[in-house]
Amino acid sequence: MKIAIIGGGLTGMSAAHVLAKAGHSCTLYERDDSLGGLAGSFRVNGVYLEKFYHHLFTSDRTMVRLIEDLGLGSDLVWNPTVTSTWYVNRIFRLATPLDVIRFKPLSLVNRLRLGSLAIIPRFVRDWRKLEEITAKEWLIKWGGRQVYEVVWYPLLRNKFGAYADEVAAVWFWNKLKLRGGSRGKGQAEHLGYLVGGFGRALEAFEARLRDLGVDIRLSSPVERVVIENGRATGVVSNGQREDFDLALVTTAPEILLRLAPDLPPDYRERLGRIKYLANACLIMKLKRSLSTTYWLNINDPNIPFVAVVEHTNMQRPDEYGGHHLAYVSRYMDPNDPYYAMSAEELFQAYLPHLRTVFPEFSPDWVETLYAWRERYTQPVVGLRYSQIRPPFRTPVQGLWLCCMAQIYPEDRGMNYAVAYGEKVAAEILESGGA
Ligand SMILES: Cc1cc2nc3c(=O)[nH]c(=O)nc-3n(C[C@H](O)[C@H](O)[C@H](O)COP(=O)(O)OP(=O)(O)OC[C@H]3O[C@@H](n4cnc5c(N)ncnc54)[C@H](O)[C@@H]3O)c2cc1C
Repeated sequence: MKIAIIGGGLTGMSAAHVLAKAGHSCTLYERDDSLGGLAGSFRVNGVYLEKFYHHLFTSDRTMVRLIEDLGLGSDLVWNPTVTSTWYVNRIFRLATPLDVIRFKPLSLVNRLRLGSLAIIPRFVRDWRKLEEITAKEWLIKWGGRQVYEVVWYPLLRNKFGAYADEVAAVWFWNKLKLRGGSRGKGQAEHLGYLVGGFGRALEAFEARLRDLGVDIRLSSPVERVVIENGRATGVVSNGQREDFDLALVTTAPEILLRLAPDLPPDYRERLGRIKYLANACLIMKLKRSLSTTYWLNINDPNIPFVAVVEHTNMQRPDEYGGHHLAYVSRYMDPNDPYYAMSAEELFQAYLPHLRTVFPEFSPDWVETLYAWRERYTQPVVGLRYSQIRPPFRTPVQGLWLCCMAQIYPEDRGMNYAVAYGEKVAAEILESGGA
């Protein structure tokens, strides 16, 4: 078969890998000038750094397998990391059970209830029941209202904004399970990272795909999927039409709606119900470290970012010429004014807040600022999402969809991008491409 794959993120790359190995002719269309999508990198002091902060959890076995398969397994390291929370003018370390016991903003009983939320998710037998209730209801049921208001609501609101109350318990359960499960000695969280950046894995993966004969077209946004007589027959990119037997779209569903305006109305309506948040990350290359925390949750409605992720508290600064690297992350609607801001504008808007959280911080610590933004970064998983989630096969013959919004009940992540990319390719092969 002659197959067009639209989107050169990890999903598209993984699908191309399986399909090309099975002997099919694959063309991978990527809008940007490099592969990797949300997991993509740029270079800092000659070393790959992700545009958006990235790490692996110990349960991310498919991504670990890919890294090993690409010959990079010996450079995958698992480091202990510290998670903390900014709440009422203080940073509280919340990395281990002992930290939870010491978390003063909650009564002792509520600290125990907060701690129990690290264990309860492991005992959920049937996640389908969690589709029926919101994260808010579920968290209040198990942790109580004070724990919800102090710890969870600020996080939900900062991440999902106006959608915070709609998020289903499934999404939150899965997050707690992932973070609670990625623990090593002394119950400290251990996170995985590829020394030299995940960009090395993308580079090796791209070389593998080229060796397999995949035709990789960078800077080639697909403008239209051609549908004729109820069948996908080609794509248009940079104004040129090319015929294919099958098209696999790996972008957000909203993009598919634009690429294929003639999709059946009920399917369009279904895809249209899937909402995505945008994200902008300010990256600061610094002379000094902000704190000892890797992941700092911001539980304060007056601060316009959801987390500060100090990458060089997971990887050593000497890997980046001794510089410290910190991401300041904000999820938002794409029409939010922060989404359009330059790196310098974001920095100026964040500066008073950075000074509140890190009182010693001074602008002359900053060597360079970078900013990356993407429109489709986090699907919003509402109640009974399994009824909205589209299948891989679309109603149009020869047109398939595999994207972050189908990853469920798990949440998006590199691991699932690879796993789902492989899964859709297996289904395509099994179906003979129909
Ligand atoms: C802030 C942030 C932090 C994250 N942290 C982590 C983490 O710590 N660990 C982890 O495992 N995961 C993390 N992720 C998630 C991870 O990056 C994604 O789940 C994964 O990369 C998604 O891959 P994908 O291929 O499905 O989608 P994408 O990466 O979005 O790929 C889609 C591709 O389609 C391309 N495209 C769009 N339109 C067109 C078009 N018309 N024609 C051609 N190409 C097009 C895009 O340019 C893009 O390359 C994070 C994501 C964000 C945003």
